[in-house]
Amino acid sequence: MAAVGTITVAGGGMCGLAAAMMLADDGHEVTVLERDPAPPPPDLEQAFDGWDRRSVAQFGLAHILLAGGTRILEQQVPTAFELLAGNGGYRLNLVTFLLSLQAGAEVTPDDDRFELVTGRRSTLEWALATAAADHPGVAVRRGDAIAGLTTGPSVIEGVPHVTGFRLNTGEEVVGDIAIDATGRRSPTLDWLADIGAVAPIDHNEDSGFAYYGRYFRSDDGSVPGLLGPALAPYGTFSVLTLPADNGTWSVTLYGLSDDKELRRFRDPDVHERVVRSCPLQAHWLDGEPITEMKSMAGVVDRHRRFVVDGKPCATGLLSVGDASSCTNPSLGRGITLGLKHVELLRREIARHGDDPAALALAFDEATETEMRPYHDATTALDRRRVAEMRSALAGSALEPDASLQIGELLAGAATIDPTCARAFGEVFSCMALPDEVLARPGMADHVRSFADQVSAEPPPGPGRTELMELIA
Ligand SMILES: Cc1cc2nc3c(=O)[nH]c(=O)nc-3n(C[C@H](O)[C@H](O)[C@H](O)COP(=O)(O)OP(=O)(O)OC[C@H]3O[C@@H](n4cnc5c(N)ncnc54)[C@H](O)[C@@H]3O)c2cc1C
Repeated sequence: MAAVGTITVAGGGMCGLAAAMMLADDGHEVTVLERDPAPPPPDLEQAFDGWDRRSVAQFGLAHILLAGGTRILEQQVPTAFELLAGNGGYRLNLVTFLLSLQAGAEVTPDDDRFELVTGRRSTLEWALATAAADHPGVAVRRGDAIAGLTTGPSVIEGVPHVTGFRLNTGEEVVGDIAIDATGRRSPTLDWLADIGAVAPIDHNEDSGFAYYGRYFRSDDGSVPGLLGPALAPYGTFSVLTLPADNGTWSVTLYGLSDDKELRRFRDPDVHERVVRSCPLQAHWLDGEPITEMKSMAGVVDRHRRFVVDGKPCATGLLSVGDASSCTNPSLGRGITLGLKHVELLRREIARHGDDPAALALAFDEATETEMRPYHDATTALDRRRVAEMRSALAGSALEPDASLQIGELLAGAATIDPTCARAFGEVFSCMALPDEVLARPGMADHVRSFADQVSAEPPPGPGRTELMELIA
């Protein structure tokens, strides 16, 4: 275990706060610098109604915490988990639900790992921020906007060494290690350019989707039951229905951001008409709308690499969560993958925290081997969905993608076979990659044996012509 020290974290969102608490538990003194001034309100309803988190564009949009992320929170940030679970966090075990649809299928104690505990984005962040406010070894400074990086003597010749952050006020907050958790709009590349660092490798493309959604609440604390998949594709658009805490849930429509007709989803009446026309999702409208319609486009898929030609762009600075890698959010993976990345950060700091050069290389290696495959698997699905939407718009047929077909088959077979249900549960929850699961002895053949029983038909709902009538 490397020596303990002082750590400065840029950004007090989901990953910055989780990282701060985990690293403080390893003995480090951690300071979090967050631009938005407002502290977490005293309760989660006030967090939903009025917490000013203007720097997080998706704060009011649909979120789910998957079982993979739930387990990390439960085991590594237990105070935040207890705040979520103890204040109406919604529990759902996808695998036991799938097994309940299968005659004779038995639930085992090990299936507990598939239980997720989720909530509105505001609730998830409220739990982390409330826990962090009292966490020993963590100081959260809110209203501190960071303008750039501070540097000290290089540890690798010609490579800048980051010691901390310079605030807009000119104040410098320095420590032994600096963590960048500044999210989707992370300014890190500019900050690195300002200190003369070699530019990181930055894959950055618009995922091509636009989202339109709002939250609802029931009057008896219940949440609509699952009649179909939470994410249902209908040709040129998809419906996303996500349960949340305290009798709330979100209903989101999304489509191609350049499909201009779909911009009418912003109109609550149009949104309602379209969801009502989808028989497996219509009942998710049976509640009181508790937000205005919110929309978001320009959502990027991004992956950054901070080691170029075997050399770190800078030492002393490690990027985590969305600042390092983010994808189209429709699979609900962002926080879970961010928390997995924070786990790696914790592990590598414990191993190499007193050797900045070794730490930069080891964290890059861990990110590439353990996180990158999740990013690539998610963007492959995004690209496929974009292609499906484009071909549905053009009225043309899309060639099947052999590399993704078996994953689609696994999702279908999960409703009829316990082994497939558990394998799908692992993939859906980001506990394992599709390739890992399918590489298990006999697994791919087992999944393929259900090919005749799995329907390739989309769920019942409107085609493009009917959609245009609903929108008109
Ligand atoms: C529409 C949409 C829906 C989503 N739905 C889901 C979902 O269902 N499930 C899921 O798991 N994920 C979802 N995500 C992704 C999820 O929101 C992110 O993965 C998650 O918030 C990443 O956490 P983070 O800490 O990396 O970044 P953030 O939570 O964005 O935090 C970054 C923080 O850095 C601060 N900051 C930025 N710049 C500065 C600066 N200069 N100085 C000081 N502070 C700064 C910001 O104020 C912010 O608090 C969704 C994303 C979008 C866009």
